[in-house]
Amino acid sequence: MKRICIKIGSNVLTKTNGELNTSRIKNIVYQISALRKLGFQCILVSSGAVAAGKSKVKIPEKIDTVSARQIWSSVGQVELLNIYSSYLKEFKIDCAQVLVTKQSFRTREHYLNMKNCLNSLLNHDILPIINENDAVSVTALMFTDNDELSGLIASMMNVEDLYLLSNIDGIYTGNPNDPASKLVKTVSGDINRLKQYITTEKSNFGRGGMITKCSIAGRVAKSGIPVHIANGGIDNILLQLVKSPETVKHTRFIASKKSSTVKQWLAGSDGFEKAKLIINQGAEEALCSKDASSLLPVGIVSIIGDFEKGDIVKIVGNSGKILGLGKTQYNKSKAESFIGKTGEKPVVHYDYLFLY
Ligand code: GLU
Repeated sequence: MKRICIKIGSNVLTKTNGELNTSRIKNIVYQISALRKLGFQCILVSSGAVAAGKSKVKIPEKIDTVSARQIWSSVGQVELLNIYSSYLKEFKIDCAQVLVTKQSFRTREHYLNMKNCLNSLLNHDILPIINENDAVSVTALMFTDNDELSGLIASMMNVEDLYLLSNIDGIYTGNPNDPASKLVKTVSGDINRLKQYITTEKSNFGRGGMITKCSIAGRVAKSGIPVHIANGGIDNILLQLVKSPETVKHTRFIASKKSSTVKQWLAGSDGFEKAKLIINQGAEEALCSKDASSLLPVGIVSIIGDFEKGDIVKIVGNSGKILGLGKTQYNKSKAESFIGKTGEKPVVHYDYLFLY
């Protein structure tokens, strides 16, 4: 069984008038049924709740944007799942709705509960359809978009490939409508060079943009999972991608060597850090070298913020460059008392360190 995660953006699922595009959803469901027959275990991350709610509920009176989004997402989620479930029934596939918040990824315990839930569904041959719990996720506690959510799910579930389906073929070297722009077929290693090409334009219906898509794709690929950005508006695109990816117009992020599940969890923990550890040049060089190095107290210059043993901390170079995330082996006062000292145990052990 090959486990994959498929993320479908709101723009793929909606028509230009904002209503859900049921024929597109039907084709996605058909592809999932065909993929399952080919031996793929699928996890679906689907947007579209807010868009579905907007076309169903007109809110005439002046209402704040948070409440409007809460109404639309909670009404629209029912609509969305009903459509998925009725089409899936034709293929005798059961589905489950899993709504998560960014907080669900914060503690390792919660994270493992969520992982167990998805594993149980998959073991019972049930298709998990995941979305952010938009009804309770508000501003600062929200995922940047569902690309971020799907990246975290892909890492957590250790999938073999992540497919991000949007309404364009992939990443272009300029405006996709400009005939001079070329599609970037493969991306490996540093994604910074891509940033020059990408516009900050957001999609019409979803929250996502190409910049977040690229940084998420880069991070997931770095943790060992190949990522494909492709056009979900094309019939049977997923089937074409799994059968002969080289013949399909899309952008593929080549994966680095697979990292441990703890490192994958850390890779998705940006924003959950309790403190920052500022490190010196020597420590930065050691961590960024090819050798497996832990962060020793001797390499720490200062600590900003408070933390307990086991908390996540951000590791920052002396120039301010953010280097990665780690799980600490000490609390703050102990770590602080060891600053600059040699011969002490690492503050962050290599096995609990993820570097960007
Ligand atoms: N969760 C939102 C929805 O279902 C979409 C977020 C996004 O656009 O990525 O409408």
